[in-house]
Amino acid sequence: MTEEKIRAACVMGWPVAHSRSPLIHGYWLKQNGIKGDYRREAVTPEDFPAFLKSLGERSYVGGNVTQPHKEMALKLTQPDDRAKAIGAANTIYIDNGVLRSTNTDVIGFLSSLDVGAPGWDKNLKTAVVLGAGGAARAVVYGLVERGAERICVVNRTLARAEVFRERFGPRVYPVGWDAVPKLLKEAGLVVNATSMGMTGNPDLPLDLGGARDGTVIGEIIYVPLKTKLLEAAEKRGLKHSDGLDMLLYQAVRGFELWFGVKPKVTPELRQIIVDELLKKK
Ligand code: NAP
Repeated sequence: MTEEKIRAACVMGWPVAHSRSPLIHGYWLKQNGIKGDYRREAVTPEDFPAFLKSLGERSYVGGNVTQPHKEMALKLTQPDDRAKAIGAANTIYIDNGVLRSTNTDVIGFLSSLDVGAPGWDKNLKTAVVLGAGGAARAVVYGLVERGAERICVVNRTLARAEVFRERFGPRVYPVGWDAVPKLLKEAGLVVNATSMGMTGNPDLPLDLGGARDGTVIGEIIYVPLKTKLLEAAEKRGLKHSDGLDMLLYQAVRGFELWFGVKPKVTPELRQIIVDELLKKK
């Protein structure tokens, strides 16, 4: 009798201990009755190119890439259009011996809004994206894809926001923080894609008092689970999405590529990660 081969994927990072991906993929492997494995691989930046090249020899079918390897992963693989446009890859898969990559943060972000505020993209005239870092690139790419007419990218370092217009086209308007009070009166969607509001960082300097009643709020931070921005959105009765749903939905595509089954984001899975986040407090 031949032994059944176990399909395995991993998350590569430096450090990697904080990654919640093993919990998410472990849950889906169990739920779908798949004999597989998902491991953490602590890989230094120096070792990363050789490690990635030997992924198949190490019996992996693919994996996630977390910081600081996302840009290098893009260079060392055949990226799809999304990963190319964003300039970073977070999901790797081996396709007929070829290392391919994608960026699943776009799907994660869009799905979190689809779940938290269905219909958010209907006639979206003005979207305000706070931040112009790596995560903001995925957010802006997603908003262009969904047809937002005007996307105002607000950033402390204006030059970084200006690059967004070159990268994502004329629907993007780079602006400074002083423009935010006026923009809030017009925005159909406001997304926090900065690291402000995360545990240990300064709070987001944003007063939702001036927002319209129908404005939707997107948050990408998930530590804490309920940021001050989300508390304020709830208080104002504004529809909103959270960073944990973005994290969970971004994982769906990788699992599907590696294990051939599209997994479900269930309330039970969400609760497992919530419990983990609360444990680490
Ligand atoms: P990043 O590339 O370092 O960008 C950070 C952004 O925040 C920049 O726009 C930066 O502005 C701004 N910022 C930071 N501190 C600031 C301050 N004190 N005042 C004004 N602006 C400030 O980080 P990232 O990779 O985009 O990640 C951003 C956040 O998203 C992180 O908290 C990360 O955990 C979260 N995230 C969540 C998910 C998810 O699945 N939910 C996925 C990816 C990332 P400057 O350019 O002026 O420095």
